[in-house]
Amino acid sequence: MIVKIDNVSKSYNKTSIINSISLTIDKGERVVILGPSGCGKTTFLRMVAGFIHPDKGRIAIDGFTVVNNGKCLIEPENRQVGMVFQDLALWPHMNVYENLAFGLKAKKVPKIEREKRIGTILEKVQMVHFKNTFPGNLSGGQQQRIALARALVMQPKILLMDEPLSNLDIDLNLLLRKEILRLQEELAITMLYVTHDRDEAFSLATRIVVMGGGEIQKTGTVKEVSEYLSKLSRECS
Ligand code: ADP
Repeated sequence: MIVKIDNVSKSYNKTSIINSISLTIDKGERVVILGPSGCGKTTFLRMVAGFIHPDKGRIAIDGFTVVNNGKCLIEPENRQVGMVFQDLALWPHMNVYENLAFGLKAKKVPKIEREKRIGTILEKVQMVHFKNTFPGNLSGGQQQRIALARALVMQPKILLMDEPLSNLDIDLNLLLRKEILRLQEELAITMLYVTHDRDEAFSLATRIVVMGGGEIQKTGTVKEVSEYLSKLSRECS
């Protein structure tokens, strides 16, 4: 088990945003959290990453408790999680290679190892020829590939993705879904992915977590969740 989340809650100004969520994620799973805007998906993902601390509950990553009842025990940079956001946050003043090298340098990975890892991951995302290019000169899809590579080059235990394809047009969105699936398989990545888009969730997940109002409403396979959502919409119409 890579991630274990036990009864995690978070409030802002006494308004409950996340209400006692528990979830476990096994190695190699592609778990997608599906829910409408404002239901708490980003807050939940950022609690796993460590940028937000839950008020209550416990999160463990790879057997280590990272936060327990509001007390942060392991900081984000030491949690071995990778993150890819909707707005990519590539560093504009660094070229592709430097963007990828930054985190490795901070972790004191030796130069030879850095070069090897960056070369391998750029090959995987088919961006070898863009090593010296600055983010401003890359297309949206290319930038997202680099954002993915930058997270993966750190060899995270889990890759957290927050609506990474929402800003892309539909053709690019579909293409990158395929790329993500290919990379996930080739590199045996464990993935926690957040989206409001059903179709995206269905095409990427091995397991879907339906979220609403800060709670888990249903967890299941694509087939189970698809049936659940159809039943729900029949009942509502
Ligand atoms: P989602 O990712 O599903 O769109 P979010 O996790 O971004 O949802 O937000 C869930 C709710 O929490 C929203 O109502 C949002 O306004 C509220 N919220 C998020 N961050 C804060 C904050 N720092 N202070 C107060 N309310 C917040």
